[in-house]
Amino acid sequence: MFHTIQKGSLEYLTADALEGAIHCFSTRYGGVSEGQFSTLNLGTSRGDSLENVVKNYRILGAAVGFTPEEVVHTWQEHTDIILRVGKSDCGKGLFRNQPDVCDGLITNEPGVALVCFAADCTPILFYDPVQRVVAAIHAGWRGTANGIARKAVEKMIAEFGSRPEDICAAIGPCISQCCFETDMDVPQAMLRAFGGEANAFIEKRGEKYFVDNKGLNKLWLTRAGLTKIDVSPACTMCQPDRFWSHRYTKGYRGSHTGIIKLPEEAAT
Ligand SMILES: [Zn+2]
Repeated sequence: MFHTIQKGSLEYLTADALEGAIHCFSTRYGGVSEGQFSTLNLGTSRGDSLENVVKNYRILGAAVGFTPEEVVHTWQEHTDIILRVGKSDCGKGLFRNQPDVCDGLITNEPGVALVCFAADCTPILFYDPVQRVVAAIHAGWRGTANGIARKAVEKMIAEFGSRPEDICAAIGPCISQCCFETDMDVPQAMLRAFGGEANAFIEKRGEKYFVDNKGLNKLWLTRAGLTKIDVSPACTMCQPDRFWSHRYTKGYRGSHTGIIKLPEEAAT
């Protein structure tokens, strides 16, 4: 289950499935940015002032439990690339060089806050409390069709020895089936990726299709053997004051995020 955390004007979401991990899904509320970036814009590539973006990370991080200096960004291009990062990557995207192209990040190092961006696309956070691994991915419809959620699980297993039954996941706010209107290309890609099981997540209305990206990503995760999965009911396009919707704003927008960091190791 998802929870809304309010601290003054700041608002962010947390998920029970990720309990124990330092994490959040941000909203538009609680930052210092203005205009189309108002107010908690966390993206650096759409024209907002870097100074304000860093302030926004500091405000959100003080509440959630990370610092801007610990942050590592993705550089999203609708790929299925997931990069393993560590302490030496901290600050990439915010204070120093542009990160390498990837739509997902994974780490087993403490002190590293993984950031993925969304504004209709689906942000997904992962936590394995046993092997102590976290991951953050961005799944638009292309990433969903390419199985980036499944690939994140496979990478946790291959690189860190995670067991699927230990991996917890939360699927964050994104454009939901109510608003994700598409042509034939999206359903066709999903049917190629999932087979007939995708039909349960596609609704035809007249000449258009409405596709449930959250449900399809959850399907990847249940197929991969995960049992602890939370799905946010929030739709970014239905709540344009609270979230950025790329479709609603026609691209004039900021970015919100899914952010996750390992907790400090318990003293033994
Ligand atoms: Zn909607």
